[in-house]
Amino acid sequence: MIAVEHPPDLTLLAFPFFVTLIGVEQVVLRHRARRIDGRDFWASIGMGFGSTIPINLFMGFVGWWFATLLWDHRLVDLGTGWAGWLVAMVGWDLIFYVEHRLSHEVRFFWASHVNHHSSLEYNLSTALRQPWTAFHTPLMVAPLALVGVRPDLIVVSGALNLLYQFWIHTEMVGRLGPLERVLNTPSHHRVHHGSNPRYLDKNYGGILIVWDRLFGTFAEEVHRPTYGLTQPVVTRSVLGLQYREFGAIARDVRRAAGWRERVGYLLRPPGWRPATPEPASGP
Ligand SMILES: [Zn+2]
Ligand SMILES: [Zn+2]
Repeated sequence: MIAVEHPPDLTLLAFPFFVTLIGVEQVVLRHRARRIDGRDFWASIGMGFGSTIPINLFMGFVGWWFATLLWDHRLVDLGTGWAGWLVAMVGWDLIFYVEHRLSHEVRFFWASHVNHHSSLEYNLSTALRQPWTAFHTPLMVAPLALVGVRPDLIVVSGALNLLYQFWIHTEMVGRLGPLERVLNTPSHHRVHHGSNPRYLDKNYGGILIVWDRLFGTFAEEVHRPTYGLTQPVVTRSVLGLQYREFGAIARDVRRAAGWRERVGYLLRPPGWRPATPEPASGP
């Protein structure tokens, strides 16, 4: 078993900064007489505070345990030098891209992620809409641990990736010149939160936007997005926002005719329905 110390929980340490920056942005928005949906704002804050427990459980505890377990079967030891950090940070960012894309393309994962897209607003508080049910996140450590990235570097890279994505949830920052080529920026992530047809299922990146450019999921911000889901949710209940899609899946699976449909409702994209048979033609 590896003898490395569990790193401190960076997401918890960052919380005072999050709260301060959210407060500053809200003051500026009110100063600019922007309409603020108070219930939407407090739902975001509630989800953020609530998410500290599952994030710690899934990544800080189960993910850490799983990484130390697999690290004993690593190919090489990449150590704690620049090579270890480079593979950890870039590798996690690629894994995040894949996980995020699957969270949009597979309904069971979408059920966890949908709450992140449920707000009609787009400000720093929106970043706190994190899932409470991302049971699969410990699996994300596996490729890096098996290659030989140390568990503490994996957990810190995962936390830094999440922390980076906080500041891009704002309309206060415009374009950032050449950085837009490489980094995920507020402009790119505004597109990701847009429900306009040209913005749907685009810009999945975490820190780097290069994955979207490479894999054909990149879209430029050409006009201000309409934020939220294509079918906006009416509830502002934190529990409702977190669990409603799981309830919808359960109802569809219960009503399904056969295993093919049941699996379809779980693993096909959100909104998938079995093809209705052609009406029989008359004699
Ligand atoms: Zn998303
Ligand atoms: Zn986001």
